[in-house]
Amino acid sequence: MTRLAAADHEQVTLHRDPCAGYTGIIALHSTVRGPAVGGTRLWSYPDVEAAAADALRLSRGMSYKNALAGLPFGGGKAVILGPAPTEPAARRALMRAHGRAIESVGGRFVTGEDVGTTVADMEMIADETAHVAGREGGVGDPSPFTARGVLVAMEAAASLRWGRADLAGRRVAIQGLGQVGMRLAEMLRARGAELIVADVRAARVAEAVADLGATPAPVDEILAADCDIVAPCALGAVLNEASVSQLRAGVVCGAANNQLAAPDADDLLHTRGVLYVPDYVANAGGVISGSVDIAGWSRARMEAALDAIDETVRAVFDRAAEDEIPSGRAADLLAEQRLAARPDQRTG
Ligand code: NAD
Repeated sequence: MTRLAAADHEQVTLHRDPCAGYTGIIALHSTVRGPAVGGTRLWSYPDVEAAAADALRLSRGMSYKNALAGLPFGGGKAVILGPAPTEPAARRALMRAHGRAIESVGGRFVTGEDVGTTVADMEMIADETAHVAGREGGVGDPSPFTARGVLVAMEAAASLRWGRADLAGRRVAIQGLGQVGMRLAEMLRARGAELIVADVRAARVAEAVADLGATPAPVDEILAADCDIVAPCALGAVLNEASVSQLRAGVVCGAANNQLAAPDADDLLHTRGVLYVPDYVANAGGVISGSVDIAGWSRARMEAALDAIDETVRAVFDRAAEDEIPSGRAADLLAEQRLAARPDQRTG
């Protein structure tokens, strides 16, 4: 329980329902700004301790992301210990048990999809609790909103780096053409950017080449591509000493979570003069779209919050310049400031 002793969370609970084969952890990092919002991850962890460590880390990350996105949400995360049952009835029982666990924390936590869970799972959770978003009939798939948020962040970064937000003629290397990466590629193409793309799925690359005139690159060379902007949109931990030293781009801005392999990658990017848009600032569009279902925001208000990613990127780099610190650290400081503010002092 050393990890728990070190945690700065408001509440961490372990839930079990032996009849449903369910073990879950709900970690509420902060509810200062509103109910803790964060997905439910279903994963095969080696043990409960490892699952708890993941829940603690991910829920803190959600507090920071939600605070910097100016959302009236705190940060939380739930994990269900896998393996996932293969039988539909067993999966339903598992999700309903999780729904009861969420209900037991009394509306302080609102969940949605994450790695290992689906819209269908959210429907099953909703049999037991109202505190679930990302359901059918709601705002829908967050990926297009995430892609749009990355684009807004990229334009802000381009403006700071080159004095021009316009991406026409810029060479952008995209790592990963999944739900977010392909959508981002389409939007960039529409703005006249040149695309270099890589994905382990050859069919996605072929699609981008045929439909968007993209240039394919090997997966192990995409981060070192000769380009202006690199957009990591596949895996986490891609920015390490080796990859940062090989970067030729002036800007790194993408959707992938936890891009920095270790905190020192932030310093390396800073030292090399690469403008790194912190991942949780660039990829906030998905959770921002959740404001429609969770906070009852109008679509227009939600879209204004997406556009406001521009101001957040600028605020992060202002802070980084002021304190002469890397952008990742500057984003964390800004988020911590917002999390510590009393409600009447909140600005975003
Ligand atoms: P996805 O699974 O649809 O796409 C990931 C893509 O990356 C896939 O096409 C996969 O084949 C490819 N890929 C995997 N390994 C690769 C490698 N080594 N090199 C190149 N390509 C590789 O996921 P997504 O929903 O598009 O999300 C992309 C990233 O953004 C993830 O890290 C995700 O956590 C993060 N993110 C997504 C959202 C969202 O709304 N979907 C929101 C916030 C953050």
